[in-house]
Amino acid sequence: MNQRRTRIYEGKAKILYEGPEPGTVVVHYKDDATAFNNQKKDVIDGKGVINNRISEYIFSKLNGLGIPTHFIKRLNMREQLVHKVEIIPLEVIVRNVAAGTLAKRLGLEEGTALPRSLIEFCYKNDELGDPLVSEEHIMAFGWASPVELDEMMAMSIRINDFLSGLFMGIGIKLVDFKLEFGRQYEGDMVRTVLADEISPDSCRLWDIDTDEKMDKDRFRRDLGGLMDAYQEVARRLGILNGNEPPERSKPVLVKSD
Ligand code: 5GP
Repeated sequence: MNQRRTRIYEGKAKILYEGPEPGTVVVHYKDDATAFNNQKKDVIDGKGVINNRISEYIFSKLNGLGIPTHFIKRLNMREQLVHKVEIIPLEVIVRNVAAGTLAKRLGLEEGTALPRSLIEFCYKNDELGDPLVSEEHIMAFGWASPVELDEMMAMSIRINDFLSGLFMGIGIKLVDFKLEFGRQYEGDMVRTVLADEISPDSCRLWDIDTDEKMDKDRFRRDLGGLMDAYQEVARRLGILNGNEPPERSKPVLVKSD
């Protein structure tokens, strides 16, 4: 690693360095796993490498769909180049199936299908344990503007539609996931872009047939086998060992004589 780089910030699972060009940042994925607001910690060999690959894969697909993201390119096994953004201090949680804190809060059995997808917001604040907040709080405290809130919700719905289909196609149920957004400044302009990562650290992914957990709940709930599960997600996505899934061949014009 290039030690001359300026470290901007070190979080629980990632380190941010100044990027090579103004307005860029290098994200370094660590092997550290934390849960319950840092009360549970471990180092899981190779987790950073696999999350870097999975997140790269998903963000590239989202960029391709025209959803604006901070992602520029993967640099190496653990690092990616992204646009510098000012993080909006909210976690946007999208849920398709009751699990985790929603199941607990409302007394629902984990695995119950929700009547429709739900979007929740948490205020990003480690000291407070990222509390659930409403749009009223977001507006009153000015954490995001009404336009930003609309953009975040619209993008979250599109991302959920895309990811639900992507995972369903490889036999995985997208139970819920967490997104973060940022403000990307370009001269006088500012735009809302998807930031952070999308990986089994930030999603609940269950095998469609067995409901086996293939995500960070294996760590949170001491189920073991986290790396095997993450590797299986990568393998099903077709990105293990640098193998991209084969491009579909173009339709061929069939002539009838
Ligand atoms: P829950 O609110 O049920 O704990 O989490 C809902 C979803 O958001 C889960 O997929 C979970 O992994 C994700 N999530 C919630 N908070 C965080 C967080 O602080 N970090 C990460 N990586 N994911 C989170």
